[in-house]
Amino acid sequence: MVFFYFCQVISLVKLSQIRISERTHFKNMSDLTVSPLLDSSLNPILHSMHAMGHEHILFCNDNATGLKAIIAVHNTVLGPALGGTRMWMYQNEQEALTDVLRLSRGMTYKNAISQLNLGGGKAVIIGDAKTMKSEALFRRFGQFVNTLAGSYITAEDVGISPEDMVHVSKETKHVVGLPGKSGDPSPVTAFGVYMGMKAAAKHQFGTDSLEGKKVGVQGIGHVGAYLVEHLVAEGAIVTITDINEAALQQMSAKYGVTVVAPDQIYDVDMDIYAPCALGATVNDETIVRLNCGVIAGAANNQLKEEVKHGQLLMQKGIVYAPDFALNAGGVINCFSEVEGLSLEWAKQKAEEIYTTIDRILVRSQQEGIPSYQVANQMAEERIQSKGSLNI
Ligand code: NAD
Repeated sequence: MVFFYFCQVISLVKLSQIRISERTHFKNMSDLTVSPLLDSSLNPILHSMHAMGHEHILFCNDNATGLKAIIAVHNTVLGPALGGTRMWMYQNEQEALTDVLRLSRGMTYKNAISQLNLGGGKAVIIGDAKTMKSEALFRRFGQFVNTLAGSYITAEDVGISPEDMVHVSKETKHVVGLPGKSGDPSPVTAFGVYMGMKAAAKHQFGTDSLEGKKVGVQGIGHVGAYLVEHLVAEGAIVTITDINEAALQQMSAKYGVTVVAPDQIYDVDMDIYAPCALGATVNDETIVRLNCGVIAGAANNQLKEEVKHGQLLMQKGIVYAPDFALNAGGVINCFSEVEGLSLEWAKQKAEEIYTTIDRILVRSQQEGIPSYQVANQMAEERIQSKGSLNI
């Protein structure tokens, strides 16, 4: 059955279009680029999995409920692969596949650098979160998660609510972030981002105080809204943007923060840019516009091309707090549920993100290499210390 789904998707994917600027081995991941697959007898998805080090991909389809999903298990050396499920109206299946491959690999790094005994995985559900949700769809998804027998543990991500996860939990126990348990991870994520942002500010401005610092927050959803609360409480001067007009009005009224249109955020005069919406917002087009000293936000995969844009930021003198180290509060919160630990434990652990970001930036400065590369190395060092790698 799985093979059937696999074949379905293969026919939709042309590898020549999958441009994965990914690293192929933990030893030298930062340098290598996956070359286009010229031999048509080879499987393009297996090629991508090999290049990025994925262990397992499960393609899920259910015509009755309209479910189309991809679950990617990247690496389980440190423990079961934990990572959220995202529901998004992707332009096409290829875009969803690329996203889940990148996101799941990011979870391996995030869990490793956060000193959690977890591997990395992620799932995407292709569809409109506003119109396509149903109990049946999430229960069917839960059945697919269950077939992985605990090698993948799911949780909430963009487009998914704790209530959706309740439906998933009717079919599998391999789900965290349920109401009444660790719950919505966003407050802990936002707290971790806030602490890491302070560490990054110390490196750029000589002080970790955010009082009077101009911070631009892109996306005031679950995480962004809590982050704004921390920033305002410390006396930062906050500018926000979002595509959700009602949310902008509400936040502006509550905190008296400035609102700009989504595309204007890159031109705002700010000390700190906090991307808290979607990935790849740090790219060729935006780097030339960004007028800030620090980039520190919750979004995953902020650098569109990790090597190129990580180096460009360093050349520009912008301190970049690597996303997967900075936004680990959510997975820390989930881990507390897996292990039966308290919310207090999760908050204390998220506070340590300050130290993690500090260590990354110190080493980046000492070794003269971009912060994303240091963070990758630190995560890889931890995985390698636990034994052989599956890549
Ligand atoms: P969310 O869906 O609640 O919020 C995202 C917000 O971004 C929404 O308000 C949306 O309207 C807005 N947005 C979308 N496109 C935009 C655009 N082009 N310009 C401006 N705003 C836009 O998601 P969230 O849970 O707050 O997560 C935000 C980011 O942080 C995601 O990348 C997510 O993967 C990452 N993250 C979240 C957590 C967590 O605990 N929720 C943990 C780690 C990482």
